Amino acid sequence: MSEETLSNLSREERRFAPPEALAAEANVTADWYDKAAEDRVAFWAEQAGRLHWDQPWDRVLDWDDPPFAKWFVGGKLNASVNCVDRHVDAGRGDKVAFHWVGEPEDDARSITYAELKDEVCKAANALTELGVRTGDRVAIYMPMIPETVVTMLACARLGAPHTVVFGGFSADALASRIVDCEAHVVVTADGGYRRGAPSALKPAVDEAVAKSGDVVRKVLVVRRTGQDLGDAGWDDTRDVWWHDAVDSASAEHTPESFDSEHPLYVMYTSGTTGKPKGILHTTGGYLVGSAYTHWGIFDLKPETDVYWCTADIGWVTGHSYMVYGPLANGTTSVMYEGTPDSPHKGRWWEIIEKYGVTLFYTAPTAIRTFMKWGSDIPAKFDLSSLRLLGSVGEPINPEAYIWYRETIGAGQTPVVDTWWQTETGAIMISPLPGVTHGKPGSAMKAIPGVAADVVDDEGKPVPNGSGGFLVLTEPWPSMLRTLWGDDERFKDTYWSRFRSQGYYFAGDGAKKDDDGDIWLLGRVDDVMNVSGHRLSTTEIESALVSHPKVAEAAVVGAADEMTGQAVCAFVILRDEVVGDGGDNADIVAELRTHVAKEIGAIAKPRQIMIVPELPKTRSGKIMRRLLKDVAEDRQVGDVTTLADSTVMDLISSNLQGGK
Ligand code: ATP
Ligand code: MG
Repeated sequence: MSEETLSNLSREERRFAPPEALAAEANVTADWYDKAAEDRVAFWAEQAGRLHWDQPWDRVLDWDDPPFAKWFVGGKLNASVNCVDRHVDAGRGDKVAFHWVGEPEDDARSITYAELKDEVCKAANALTELGVRTGDRVAIYMPMIPETVVTMLACARLGAPHTVVFGGFSADALASRIVDCEAHVVVTADGGYRRGAPSALKPAVDEAVAKSGDVVRKVLVVRRTGQDLGDAGWDDTRDVWWHDAVDSASAEHTPESFDSEHPLYVMYTSGTTGKPKGILHTTGGYLVGSAYTHWGIFDLKPETDVYWCTADIGWVTGHSYMVYGPLANGTTSVMYEGTPDSPHKGRWWEIIEKYGVTLFYTAPTAIRTFMKWGSDIPAKFDLSSLRLLGSVGEPINPEAYIWYRETIGAGQTPVVDTWWQTETGAIMISPLPGVTHGKPGSAMKAIPGVAADVVDDEGKPVPNGSGGFLVLTEPWPSMLRTLWGDDERFKDTYWSRFRSQGYYFAGDGAKKDDDGDIWLLGRVDDVMNVSGHRLSTTEIESALVSHPKVAEAAVVGAADEMTGQAVCAFVILRDEVVGDGGDNADIVAELRTHVAKEIGAIAKPRQIMIVPELPKTRSGKIMRRLLKDVAEDRQVGDVTTLADSTVMDLISSNLQGGK
């Protein structure tokens, strides 16, 4: 970005105060901001008290060699003990840890903390038997089943960092991650259920193992679907069934204590902006960050709440807010295996009704999909148990926020729009549910303990009402420690842009409104320059989504001889509009006028393309770089992290057909 900051064009005046009852009982209150700012290090030390430490730390933060942080130096703990054993030891063994819901109806089971502990211990013994030692990496390529959580915790128990790879990724994507972190053991399943049918996993593992040289020695396989593995589907010297190795293993396992800075896992980023990066998280600081934020931002009352995060476990949200945060806090959670439309489009709402879910955390992409399907679907279910809704992954457009609050939250529940990244390990910017008067579309402020700012090209804070680069100005416990095996790339990617200030550069553009609240504006790389005006993808997309005919929108800047760059929009219409069979040319004209009215003539798209789908990562983020390739008539780039690799073909053929 040049010196000129982003144009601050859109206006949003709606505000939502927290419900009084929630505010009165809130875990985190307004005074926490000051308390944390007065002595941040002491604040984090206090938060670390949420965990069980086998040995206390002697120094909270070592920032002597930035950007390499050490937190809770000298402290020792075991992550799996913190997530499981200590709840059992405290007499809460009968409490449900997970209500697991399989995709096939009636395929569900509830797992208590005591049962989870036994499973984790057995799996830890079985993995040891397979040769896993402290420090070894284990790759996990699994569906959303309890064994996935068990495997992660068993790895943590052994001090063997896991790397979970989305079950939807290709063999190539899996192989590159196995090789990058040199995982000798892979844990997988024969398959999982998606969209009403078994979907195989094991063949992709076989292919990935073959592509990984001689890195992989053992493959542990859960039988989930019972599908035929084919002739080449089993290698007796390498493959081991879970029910043979784990079920017969001892449920006794003495955990070791690990250094606070012992590696917990490597997670590869979504790859929205390029090749995925192997983010390294360590034990103590990460657990402190995920436990504190899960408790504070979701206002968790472990005795009564039923919490559900819909993220896939192969995404960082699945790590921090399905596994480590909730379990460290002794939460009862829902875990669902399948897709939201199996066997019907009300499946999620049916699950909320059945289990009485109180806290619900999902992504804008899902919310917009439900908007597209229509409000009559959730209206058929009793959602009155919900008391708080969360959003993560992308900016939530104001219209999607309002729909979420009104249709799912009965116009009552706070919506916490949480900004964070794989790299940050935990939520950094978010409303506080019992404090903040929420503004639809704004992530609001850095949470107590976190220091964020929006700065200009020179690293100076921008005044209220202006846009710039989002930075984190102080280290925090759950920060990434490095990129796996690549300290140089770590320094270069996050710490070189504002080296002299020592700021962490997030790669996102943001603006401060007149109250100093933060609005995320999209990736800095995606910011468009139209006739010298810097425009945000997010603002134009939100304007499009605010039109009643639009379900989803993605905006990119395409090279333009006249204006430098021109705004190109890709739009999905709502189901009822598509059904009308109306003329697309009329709709396009209507939408262009609408954007001009909402934002200004400068933002009016040169081109609007009506498409049936948008390219998204498995975590539901729109991959704008691929759309930019289409808009600039280029061969599309790397699609390996797309959820559905046929989407780009669908878009291209649709556009050709429409020409
Ligand atoms: P890569 O870094 O490989 O391109 P990625 O950035 O998509 O992938 P993640 O770490 O999963 O990988 O995503 C973090 C990004 O998601 C943030 O940098 C931000 O752009 C976006 N994001 C997450 N939550 C929010 C939110 N509440 N509001 C706006 N943007 C968000
Ligand atoms: Mg990123």
